[in-house]
Amino acid sequence: MSTPSKIPVAVLGATGTVGQRFIALLDSHPWFEVAAVTASQRSEGKAYREAASWIQASPMPAEIRERVLRPTVPEAVAGCPLVFSALDARAADHLEAPFAEAGHLVVTNARSHRLDPDVPLMVAEVNPDHLGLLDTQSWPGGIIANPNCSTIGLVLALKPLVQAFGVRRLHVVSLQAISGAGLPGISSYQILDNLIPRIPGEEEKLESEPRKIFGRFSEGGIEPYPIAVSAQCNRVPVVDGHTLCVSVELGRKASEEEILKVWREYRSEAQRLLLPSAPQRPIHVLEGDDHPQPRLHRDLEGGMAASVGRLRSCPLLDYKFVTVSHNTVRGAAGGALLLAELAAAQGKIPGVAVPATS
Ligand code: NAP
Repeated sequence: MSTPSKIPVAVLGATGTVGQRFIALLDSHPWFEVAAVTASQRSEGKAYREAASWIQASPMPAEIRERVLRPTVPEAVAGCPLVFSALDARAADHLEAPFAEAGHLVVTNARSHRLDPDVPLMVAEVNPDHLGLLDTQSWPGGIIANPNCSTIGLVLALKPLVQAFGVRRLHVVSLQAISGAGLPGISSYQILDNLIPRIPGEEEKLESEPRKIFGRFSEGGIEPYPIAVSAQCNRVPVVDGHTLCVSVELGRKASEEEILKVWREYRSEAQRLLLPSAPQRPIHVLEGDDHPQPRLHRDLEGGMAASVGRLRSCPLLDYKFVTVSHNTVRGAAGGALLLAELAAAQGKIPGVAVPATS
């Protein structure tokens, strides 16, 4: 049953891996409710249950099963001030901007607008001040971009280090889950008993996005943070959860105890505002000498927390550690929901009153 006080939202690309996560996470969301779902022309006009090959562990929400998939055009989502995009990037390239032009606030997971100078590339706990870039956009609505799924885990683990000590250089090897490849995904013949040492476009994203995310926001735009990143990305036979093995050079010397302390104590505006999707602790420091592991730790705090462990000195740079985060929750739909909650709490959704935050 519809709750009139909730903000009606649309999910673009609602049938895919990330789209399904949105549908699952939006079921009983306290502020938002799904009013429209869209997909490609292949799915248009079909009931959601017919078009979506449901791969979530929770049952498909009853309200969504018979929902008819609409075309991915602004006229199909009139009445939804907030639009979540889980579109395939090639489609997002030309389909998302018209929604911003038509007055919707789009929170997107696609790469298409991430490096546009006036589009905030944000992780709610890392650079919430970049939301101010929305005011420099020329659309009546706007676009906020969620970073790449591996970038999100990386910058969450790095933020307390950047803030306390600075980070100059880092090397990262990623071990990325198959759900990151979307539907139908990589074939079992290719991935079982195997590892694929290349994910097209992924290394470039990990190497470029942190510079913008950690950049300094001033009225004119973002001044990039001077960090050099070298990334090697691999697809591995894990269903959900990306693991990153990171070596860092800090801006100033710090002890292991200082690093563990800033990780443990890190909280942000999202926690202070008690946003509905915010984890209580964005970073969990794990004690086990073989932790974190994707199967054991990807679901911490509903999949919204990053875990870190195995901190030790690095013979090449200063320190090395391992971090795990859930790629379709924290790294996609959950992260985008949290961004939208932050935007709502700051009155940035066109025509929508600020919801009560506790
Ligand atoms: P996916 O499983 O391939 O789903 C893509 C969705 O886009 C489907 O709903 C599909 O609809 C729709 N679509 C494709 N072409 C379209 C078109 N021309 N017009 C309208 N809709 C179209 O992909 P995904 O893994 O969910 O990823 C979605 C986006 O999030 C991508 O941009 C991806 O790079 C990004 N992302 C993914 C992850 C992850 O872990 N998977 C993490 C972060 C970001 P049909 O079902 O009708 O084909």
